[in-house]
Amino acid sequence: MSVVHVPEFRLGKVLATSFTATLTERCGEPVERIPVPSRLVDWLAVYGLVVDSCTESQLVHARELRESIHAAATAVAKQEPLPAPAVQVINDCSAHGQASPILTPEGGWRWRLGSASVEDALSVIAADAVSIIAGERPGKMALCASPTCRAAFFDASRGHTRRWCEMNTCGNREKKERFLANKRKKSNPAG
Ligand SMILES: [Zn+2]
Repeated sequence: MSVVHVPEFRLGKVLATSFTATLTERCGEPVERIPVPSRLVDWLAVYGLVVDSCTESQLVHARELRESIHAAATAVAKQEPLPAPAVQVINDCSAHGQASPILTPEGGWRWRLGSASVEDALSVIAADAVSIIAGERPGKMALCASPTCRAAFFDASRGHTRRWCEMNTCGNREKKERFLANKRKKSNPAG
């Protein structure tokens, strides 16, 4: 029996940039974390966006939105003009779905998707991207300091001093590499 390796999700607090983190190591050896439609369905469910099904073409569409959000967020982080094609895709996705925030009897809230379709779910993600890219929320777009990652992330920390998209992965790896480099320098002072 062969075991198919499915990469785990990188789950963050901000919906739009957590979605872009379904592809990691963009500048190294990219890891696709939604390789098949069922994994997109799983990912959406984690964020309370429960859809009935997902086709291969809906997955392609979702990835197109993902890369458009990443391109636009990267431009904001670099203080460059927004790429027009990315803006178009984000706006189309935002407009082509139905979703409403609704109160639960317990006083919380959740999304109600109009037709439980992938398009409905993508409209929620696109709207979230609009709000962070347009600077509507307290925080700042930044790029991960890891040279193989360079993921765009939303830094909501006080003083906006976050350097890595995720401390547990990119942050720790860089710390480890720096530690090893220092150790090499010490053990080989001539080199
Ligand atoms: Zn990173």
